[in-house]
Amino acid sequence: MPDELLERLQRFHTDAFPTQRSLFRHLVDDGQHPLTLFIGCSDSRLVPYLLTGAGPGELFLVRNVGAFVPPHDQSQGFHGTAAAIEFAVLNLQVRRIVVCGHSHCGAIRALYGGVPAAAPNLAQWLELGREAVLPVAEPGPDALRRTEQRAIVLQLERLMAYPMVRERVEAGTITLHGWHYVIEDGEVHVFDVERGFVPASAAEHAGTGPYRPAPDEVSPAGHAA
Ligand SMILES: [Zn+2]
Repeated sequence: MPDELLERLQRFHTDAFPTQRSLFRHLVDDGQHPLTLFIGCSDSRLVPYLLTGAGPGELFLVRNVGAFVPPHDQSQGFHGTAAAIEFAVLNLQVRRIVVCGHSHCGAIRALYGGVPAAAPNLAQWLELGREAVLPVAEPGPDALRRTEQRAIVLQLERLMAYPMVRERVEAGTITLHGWHYVIEDGEVHVFDVERGFVPASAAEHAGTGPYRPAPDEVSPAGHAA
């Protein structure tokens, strides 16, 4: 029986890697300097490199069920996602943080339907999206989409409770971006603090996060705009 996974590994080494050998060599010699921390849902249909046209070395990726951000207060145990945020901001000094959810998200649906009793970690983790839930018993497609989008904004707000994130957002050295990827349309809707979620095709920027400075807070040099 052929080992399909092994064949894929071999193909990467013989076919794909040679075309990018010098890029990887550079990334090894010079180290990684990604500008973007991308916090995305683990969903297999969400492909960050395709969405952003990024290649090796460009995205520092964290993925988890729901694209959730745990609280900074360390109250809920071991947090790979929180550790990744700290590393990306303090060590890599990324310039932007993207939180990317998507349509038909199983995590958001599970907030209404529950999870198996044998999945206590999943049940606990999903609580990070609880505040986004709408007061409906049987959510339809619209309610689910709104919940997905509300959950994204909720995570942006939670990011702002990380002192190292808040400091940099307020200083204008990090921007926050909430994205909702609509799988069936192949389009990301970006969160605009004034307009809500706007399709990328109609947007004027890649997202402002909920904390764009008020005009009177903008420095004369305009860095905070
Ligand atoms: Zn999802």
